[in-house]
Amino acid sequence: MANLQQRLPENVPGDFFVDSTCIDCDTCSELAPAVFRDHGDQNSVHHQPETDAETERALMALVACPTGSIGTLERHDAHIGIDAFPLLLADNVYFCGFTSESSFGAWSYLIVRPEAEGGNVLIDSPRFATQLVKRIDAMGGVRKMFLTHKDDVADHDRFAARYQCERLMHEDDGAARHGIETLIRGADPVQIDHDLIAIPVPGHTRGHVVLLYRNKFLFTGDHLAWSPNRNSLIAFRRACWYSWAEQIKSMQKLLDYEFEWVLPGHGRIHHDSAASMRDQLENCIQWMKEVA
Ligand code: SF4
Repeated sequence: MANLQQRLPENVPGDFFVDSTCIDCDTCSELAPAVFRDHGDQNSVHHQPETDAETERALMALVACPTGSIGTLERHDAHIGIDAFPLLLADNVYFCGFTSESSFGAWSYLIVRPEAEGGNVLIDSPRFATQLVKRIDAMGGVRKMFLTHKDDVADHDRFAARYQCERLMHEDDGAARHGIETLIRGADPVQIDHDLIAIPVPGHTRGHVVLLYRNKFLFTGDHLAWSPNRNSLIAFRRACWYSWAEQIKSMQKLLDYEFEWVLPGHGRIHHDSAASMRDQLENCIQWMKEVA
C-alpha cells in the first residue's frame, strides 16, 4: 500500500498520488497517460481523474503497479481495477496487468485458445496475484508459458506449479537453471504450434526470443517497442545487455515476417497495418544503425 507520508512532491494535489517507492517502470503512465506521467526518474500524478473512464484507468494502474506505490485519499472500489484484468486487446489476446517488481514491472499477455488448438498461452510472467490467477482459471488456465528472456520470468515457477504447464525459453538465457521444460536452441525459428512461431532475437540478452501468433501479434519482450515520444518503433539502446550489433541483425530478421501488433514488456503497445509495421521496422533498423 502506498504511504501518504511518502507522497512525492511532483504529484498534483488531490485524491490519487504516487509515493517514493516508485521504481519508474512506467506501467502507470502507459496504462493511464491522462493521469500519470514520468517526471524524470519516477512517475507522479499530473492530472487527477475527472471522469469515470479516467478513474477506471487510474485504478487499473494502481492494481498493475509492481510496488504498490499508487495510493488514494478517498475510498474506491478496488474491483474496478482488479476486474479489468486480463484486459482484452484484440481477438483473443489479453494484457495481464498485475506486474511484478522482480521483472521491473514488465508486461505479460495471455492468448486464449480452445484446448483443441493447443490451449492458452501465457507470455512472460505477471505477479502471482490470487485475483489474477482466479480470473485466468475461469478463462481456462495456462497450457504453455513462453518466456521471452531472463529478465521477465518473475513468478514463472508458481504459474508452472499451478497449471502444470509447459514452459519454453531459450537455453542461452539460463532456461535449464530455471527448470524450464522445453529449451529453445540456436538461432533458427521454431514452430511451436500451427499458429505460434518462436524467433530467436539475440541482442537485449543472448537468449532473447520473440513470439509470433497468427502472423498478427508479435510479443516482443524487451527487443522492440513503440515510443510515443519518437512516434516510432524503437529498441532500448541503454538497456541492451548483450550486443547492440546482434540486436540490429535480429531486428532485420523480423523483416521476414508479417505482424500488425507489437506487444512489448516495456514501452507502448503498437497496432498498425502489416505494411505500415514493416515501414516502421525498416525505420527502426536505420535508426539503430545511426545510434550504434
Ligand atoms: S506503476 Fe508504480 S512503480 Fe511503475 S512507474 Fe507507476 S508508480 Fe512507479
